[in-house]
Amino acid sequence: KDQTDYQEMDYMDAWVRHYRSFTAEGQCATYIPALEKADPTQLGICVIGPDGTVIKSGDWEATFTMQSISKVLSFIAACLHRGIPYVLERVDLEPTGDPFNSIIRLEMHKPGKPFNPMINAGAITVSSLLPGESPQKKLESLCILIEKMVGKRPTINEEVFRSEWQTAHRNRALAYYLKETGFLELEVDQALEVYLKQCSIEVNTEDIALIGLILAHDGYHPIRKEQIFPKRVARLTKSLMLTCGMYNASGKFAAFIGLPAKSGVSGGVMTSVPPRVRTEEIPFKDGCGIGIYGPSIDEYGNSVAGVMLLKHIANSWDLSIF
Ligand code: GLN
Repeated sequence: KDQTDYQEMDYMDAWVRHYRSFTAEGQCATYIPALEKADPTQLGICVIGPDGTVIKSGDWEATFTMQSISKVLSFIAACLHRGIPYVLERVDLEPTGDPFNSIIRLEMHKPGKPFNPMINAGAITVSSLLPGESPQKKLESLCILIEKMVGKRPTINEEVFRSEWQTAHRNRALAYYLKETGFLELEVDQALEVYLKQCSIEVNTEDIALIGLILAHDGYHPIRKEQIFPKRVARLTKSLMLTCGMYNASGKFAAFIGLPAKSGVSGGVMTSVPPRVRTEEIPFKDGCGIGIYGPSIDEYGNSVAGVMLLKHIANSWDLSIF
């Protein structure tokens, strides 16, 4: 539908304008030098409903790298190609309450199985499980899945990849540890190449809103009318997003926003809003996907203004799954 016939658009613009001022409370990620170049005042949103209704506002069209949002997709792809039991033998489903790049629990809990696929240790392991022998083939399987969902071939931002490759000392340490404990199904450099390239896949808010929408509909693409991945994979993925998707702020996010979401340090937040049963008329009753971009991030690595905007929308539209 044409966004102009949708009254929410007017107040969405006002909300984006309001929350943009809060971008000053955070800053762009600096540990990946190329991410520092982003404009910290940017804030954009895209909401897509299953009938194709779209609301777009602010810097919705800006491209950014997926970073940790890619962890959702590599988990789905690994489950699709290897089967859920195989993947869960190598990565657990438990939240940690630790920062995303934490190494501490790997040694604390023998035999060093990563706690979940949404923290780096788990995600690097999952990347190594993607199908194919080479890093290229593994990435290809991920790109095919993304293309099926967003309808266009994803591109990798080589500058961001190279920038992180040179500074990925902690991820390298995680990968070496995982190699030693036998959880990594690739050599360290190859696993890092897959992981860091998947993090460097470029998207905009519309792309991640679509993925959020497909997750909301349990793997079914309501616009293309095609089941992209099975319901049981979608359920597992959403439960991980809810419990671990916003890193060590996931508890507060569940309490105050109450939706499965996944953030990345580049400032993207992908949210999945399942259909809701209500007697009164409410926006997006049949669920929606929400993509937000705001590169100024907080101490946890989540978009400062993006989370505030999302909280406002979730409260106004009564979106919490609880
Ligand atoms: N590529 C980033 C890293 O591994 C992704 C982290 C994130 O988005 N939280 O450090």
